[in-house]
Amino acid sequence: MFSEYPVPEPEPGAALVRISLANVCGSDLHIWRGELDPRKRGWPLPRHQGHESTGRIEALGEGVRVDSDGQPLAVGDRVVYRYFFPCGRCKNCLNDRSRACPTRYAFNTSAEQWPHFNGAFGDYFYLRPNHTVFKVPDDISDDLLVGVNCAFSQVVCGLDSARLGMGETVVIQGAGGLGLYAIAVARERGAGQIIVVDGVAERLDLAESFGADHQIDMRELPEPEGRAQRVRELTGGWGAEVVVDVAGFPQVVAEGMQMLAQGGRYVEIGNISPGLTYAADPSFWVTNNCSIFGVHVYEARHLREALNLLDHGRARYPFQKIVSHRFPLEEVNEVMAAQADGHITRASLVP
Ligand SMILES: [Zn+2]
Ligand SMILES: [Zn+2]
Repeated sequence: MFSEYPVPEPEPGAALVRISLANVCGSDLHIWRGELDPRKRGWPLPRHQGHESTGRIEALGEGVRVDSDGQPLAVGDRVVYRYFFPCGRCKNCLNDRSRACPTRYAFNTSAEQWPHFNGAFGDYFYLRPNHTVFKVPDDISDDLLVGVNCAFSQVVCGLDSARLGMGETVVIQGAGGLGLYAIAVARERGAGQIIVVDGVAERLDLAESFGADHQIDMRELPEPEGRAQRVRELTGGWGAEVVVDVAGFPQVVAEGMQMLAQGGRYVEIGNISPGLTYAADPSFWVTNNCSIFGVHVYEARHLREALNLLDHGRARYPFQKIVSHRFPLEEVNEVMAAQADGHITRASLVP
């Protein structure tokens, strides 16, 4: 459903972005398929959908003269930004956990209420006061940039939380946009062995082109036990130090746990839909000394790091392959269907 709203004048400390490109993210698909009811997360309807995007500064509120790096910021500048707005003064914000600020989401406001533009699928996005925004080098195209403020920063935060270290083996469950970025981030952090699990040929090929060391094809190994066994074979019987779920279905958690080494760390990013569960055996976590990191959104520094890696890692990783298709925003419903069947990695929408 498309609606029109008055374009907001930025209040002091705020800014308005004119969206140039927005991606369909996995979490948009969870909502579109009805697996995630926004009301269960406390997000009122109607909701301005979408969050992964980039654009240009359209207007600056009073007092906003520089970006979050202290560089001069002006109308017309191309920018990336966090799509959520931690308050900056609560207990979590003050303890390096602004991603857990209770009031961070613009989605807490219905699209009917000012400032209306709380999502990415539209002409504008409103950057509330206390926003994080970075000016972008001219030579990074919108196609490269558009995945930075969700998928890319999300996996930077996930692997940072689990402190993935040099020489360690990481298993990445799912080779969509997040999984591909995770390969690059894991390599940059010095991972020894990167193993990717997926069941779609195009995605496995992409994983290889990003430098994954091993691809586990779910069509060849249809049972979770077989895939866990394969990880053990590839790690001299030990299992992986870190396993990351970016597939987003509860059953992959049980499978990923079986791939962990003693003392391993499990990073849960993909499952965001309340009420979807799996049968767990907590004794496994205890007797295997496992840690579980639930990671949702990210700190400002992770956006900075993702932008840096995009800028300086372009020669090493084919980031341009992640966004596979551009469509007009009006075709958003058809695009959702095409991406849901797995043959479009990450579709971009042009308003
Ligand atoms: Zn997202
Ligand atoms: Zn806060």
